[in-house]
Amino acid sequence: MAAAEAHSAHNYHPLPVVIASGEGAWVTDVEGRRYLDMLAGYSALNFGHGHPRLIAAAKAQLDRVTLTSRAFHHDKFAAFCTALAELCGMEMVLPMNTGAEAVETAVKTARKWGYRVKGVPDGQANIVVAADNFHGRTTTIISFSTDPEARADYGPYTPGFTVVPYGDLAALDAAVDENTVAVLIEPIQGEAGVLVPPPGYLTGVRRLTADRGVLFIADEIQSGLGRTGRTFACEHEDVVPDMYVLGKALGGGVVPVSAVVSSREVLGVFRPGEHGSTFGGNPLACAVGLEVLAMLGTGEYQRRAAQLGDHLHGELRGLLGTGAVTAVRGRGLWAGVDVAPSIGTGREISERLLARGLLVKDTHGSTIRLAPPLVITQADLDWSLTQLREALRG
Ligand SMILES: *Cc1c(COP(=O)(O)O)cnc(C)c1O
Repeated sequence: MAAAEAHSAHNYHPLPVVIASGEGAWVTDVEGRRYLDMLAGYSALNFGHGHPRLIAAAKAQLDRVTLTSRAFHHDKFAAFCTALAELCGMEMVLPMNTGAEAVETAVKTARKWGYRVKGVPDGQANIVVAADNFHGRTTTIISFSTDPEARADYGPYTPGFTVVPYGDLAALDAAVDENTVAVLIEPIQGEAGVLVPPPGYLTGVRRLTADRGVLFIADEIQSGLGRTGRTFACEHEDVVPDMYVLGKALGGGVVPVSAVVSSREVLGVFRPGEHGSTFGGNPLACAVGLEVLAMLGTGEYQRRAAQLGDHLHGELRGLLGTGAVTAVRGRGLWAGVDVAPSIGTGREISERLLARGLLVKDTHGSTIRLAPPLVITQADLDWSLTQLREALRG
């Protein structure tokens, strides 16, 4: 492993496991040991490793055509955009590749809409975001991060963003002015530790943005597409934003696929040449994405996440009394578990779980994040909870 890292930048600190294959919720390392994957590629693997439907869709497309560029039409593009717009109950789709590119696209869209539709004076548009956000790694996006690790040494920073505390409607109200074009938030903050906002927050953001003529952009890259027990986390408060930003699970864990989805009024601001991506909306991405959308269309994965999630959270709440765990948060098959400092750091618990055959990732020092593939069985989920209880015991 040391040799493997000699020629790669040290921008990650992976757990000491070398994965060779995966199937469903399980992976196997180069020595043949099996691990239950409770990170699921930060929700990019909502359908598990190697889902037969997704692999078949990818293989079929590999034999036909993989890349055309958007200079030409291809026969999967319209179908993908139509299906995604339908799933979102919206009108237009702009496909990109990674999540960060989709967030960048959302920022550009909101600014252009602000100048062309809302009438904000040129160069004055601002976007309100939440503290402790995670929206990706590009220079503009880290410009409005509040995490020093993500931000330090990357200036000069892109202006035009105002940061307010997450979950605080009064602060949001005070931050919005006549040049505000959008409020950009995660309906549940994933990287921050699976932070669920106080009840009524999303409804409040919806009302406030509608009243003030500001776009509500929901970054559902991690929370969306089934993870929380609904197609979108915004649905837990019956809220429909003006724009969804999607990624991760949209590519089925096979290829990077992201998109911005919105109304004709908003995404209609682009004219040919004003935005683009060589790989965005390529035939392979659209073929896999179409299969993802067909799978989500059945509601089966959302139901599994809701039912197994209720079970997971019931069991996790039981840990609160033990003193080993100081807080449990989340929705559906997504949980942040804060481990008491006396028990060990998040990294130490992750290493203990690794030794027990469970892959998790810590975040912010003391939080363990649990986000298994939505295809996990209840028996495997229960096994993972047993491992967690034992690891917390030492
Ligand atoms: C992962 C993530 C992103 C960035 O996606 P990449 O594909 O890593 O660029 C943006 N927003 C949220 C909420 C995410 O979880």
